[in-house]
Amino acid sequence: MSSVQPGCLWVVATPIGHRDDLSARAIATLRAVHVVAAEDTRHTRPLLVHHGIDTPLMALHEHNERDAVEAIVRRLVAGESVALVSDAGTPLISDPGFRLVRAARAAGIRCVPIPGACAAIAALSVAGMPSDRFVFEGFLPPKSAARRSRLQQLANESRTVIFYESSHRVAESLADMRDIFGAQRDAVLARELTKLFETVLGEPLGELAVRVAADPDQQRGECVLLVAGRGEEADAKLAEGRRIFAILREELPPAKAAKMAAAISGAPRKALYESEK
Ligand code: SAM
Repeated sequence: MSSVQPGCLWVVATPIGHRDDLSARAIATLRAVHVVAAEDTRHTRPLLVHHGIDTPLMALHEHNERDAVEAIVRRLVAGESVALVSDAGTPLISDPGFRLVRAARAAGIRCVPIPGACAAIAALSVAGMPSDRFVFEGFLPPKSAARRSRLQQLANESRTVIFYESSHRVAESLADMRDIFGAQRDAVLARELTKLFETVLGEPLGELAVRVAADPDQQRGECVLLVAGRGEEADAKLAEGRRIFAILREELPPAKAAKMAAAISGAPRKALYESEK
């Protein structure tokens, strides 16, 4: 483990479910620092107790952030070592801590990551979706109009898109995604990762939206949603299919023209047929 240096801010990832997903280096760091700044001390204490750590805790959450940041930076400048943790996973990733890290760095304090669990990365690692490029969108707006408008802005995104979503809204969000990205777009729902009811479902959005809406068990726990990017290959096929369809339509009825254009181009017949409507 790295020796804990004075005046250093350690940004420590904690588990997203399974308590043993706390690295040996994280345990040693949490033991050695002067204080652990936690999003919710009541939540973090059992984790520390489980690992035999009795370092004092202090709270750093969105409601006391300004005062807490000042107090922590003062301690760091005075030479104390501080670890920052959130309720689960990597601090700052849809969690508090950004203002503290920014203030610490501005004060010339060294900030050291102790990497570990992150739900977005854990989900991506088992989704079987292109992972060389991806975007993390965090939480969508809770209200449908704002959510749909955000999704509309992402409709042409070609990279895999990762969302965090509350289980109460997962069915609604999937329905909006299906409407905006199209029923054929591949998606994955990764639920309760590292926990007892861990589930990873991968289907086109149309099927996934129906399945989740029909099954209350799929609307429980913590969820990550991943949506495949808009494929350039599929777009090119569709454009070619539409071009052929338009030529054939001059001689043939729509159903027959769509069937032939689909066979020639590889584009979905239904999409070609519907392009006339
Ligand atoms: N900082 C955390 C991280 O590194 O993943 C994320 C914190 S954010 C407030 C909480 C959200 O992360 C949940 O609403 C859910 O979308 C996702 N999440 C956290 N734990 C999860 C798990 N075990 N399985 C699936 N999603 C999880």
